[in-house]
Amino acid sequence: MALLGATGSIGRQTLDVLRREPDSFELVSIAGGTRLAELAEVAREFGVRRVGVARPEDFLAAREILGDGVEVVVGGDGLGELARDADVVVNAVVGFAGLPVTINALEAGRTLALANKESFIAAAPLVARVRDTPGALVLPIDSEHCAIYQCLADSTRSGHPDVRRLLLTASGGPFRGWSRERLATVTRADALQHPTWSMGPKITIDSSTLMNKGLEVLEASALFGVDVGRINVVVHPQSVVHSMVEYVDGSVIAQLSLPDMRLPIAFCLGRPVRFDHAWGAIDFTTALSLTFEPPDLAAFPAIPLAYAAARRGGAAPAWLSAANEVAVAAFLHDAIGWTDIVPIVAAVMDQYDDVHLESVEALVAQDAAARRRATDLIARDR
Ligand code: NAD
Ligand code: MG
Repeated sequence: MALLGATGSIGRQTLDVLRREPDSFELVSIAGGTRLAELAEVAREFGVRRVGVARPEDFLAAREILGDGVEVVVGGDGLGELARDADVVVNAVVGFAGLPVTINALEAGRTLALANKESFIAAAPLVARVRDTPGALVLPIDSEHCAIYQCLADSTRSGHPDVRRLLLTASGGPFRGWSRERLATVTRADALQHPTWSMGPKITIDSSTLMNKGLEVLEASALFGVDVGRINVVVHPQSVVHSMVEYVDGSVIAQLSLPDMRLPIAFCLGRPVRFDHAWGAIDFTTALSLTFEPPDLAAFPAIPLAYAAARRGGAAPAWLSAANEVAVAAFLHDAIGWTDIVPIVAAVMDQYDDVHLESVEALVAQDAAARRRATDLIARDR
């Protein structure tokens, strides 16, 4: 197994699953960004032989800290190499930087356990081609998609004609029910507090704007081959129902569990076997309320923006995700306010001209173009 993005929230929770299943997997490679000491600790604990670091300037320091017998690879090319060389590849990198992992793992016919939604959405037309490689399989770690995957078990026909809609649940984030006026007062600390999940900073901010749910609509459409017109978002504050599938006969199948990402991670790694560890159990012996409500699309325009990008296709989802990455990073650096994030993404999308995505190189160029637009807008407004 290769675990790329080993030092992040999903990465560390994947290591937790491996610690409980020491005989099921051999961790042959890991990669991370810049936290070399943490990578070295993981490498020592699991006997990892190849380690990827993000920046060329860290190469020598990484070799020094990892010692003899561990090969060091660098950057996106390094990630791609590691993704080709394991049977099971976990893509736990954040953002567009995860692209080489997804493309190379599928091209090499590997099982890809996917957390990295950003590059998957951006590259959807290219991913569709490499998914046909013999042996290639995508298993979704994202909890909603892992739920839908399980709820679709009996729906095996391409395009799922027996399904009326996919119902993606959303916690609603920390600002559920807030008016637009109150949202104008949000601080960085407020946005970094998620009510039900503990995650990396980028996805935590995305969950506060509901851009995460918008990205997940695109992710579900690409994963399951279902048009976004058949995907609905349902706010469910308890985060116990992880998503649902409504069949054409009116029957709705849901997957429930306590909110703990180790469960979908373990599901992907164990499949078709279910590991005999409960990551917490729902207590049905005491009163339990599960509630559902529609999202407030006026207060959270990220969702309609994502639907619009899905309908345009081509590089529009790549632009949406790239502009969002730039805006979220600016917010995390206190360069813009919380209420600026989604309008910046919307303004970048206004500048998008339809492009058909033919190659990874074209996608990388489109990603860069959208980032430039977002960076310019932020600089201009300051
Ligand atoms: P995180 O910020 O905690 O971790 C990101 C990881 O990526 C780190 O190991 C970091 O070192 C690595 N990384 C970043 N840039 C890199 C680069 N250029 N090269 C190599 N490694 C790089 O993020 P996270 O919360 O673990 O999220 C990871 C992905 O999983 C995101 O796409 C997110 O949307 C998705 N996801 C996360 C959760 C969650 O609960 N955290 C749930 C569902 C989906
Ligand atoms: Mg999710």
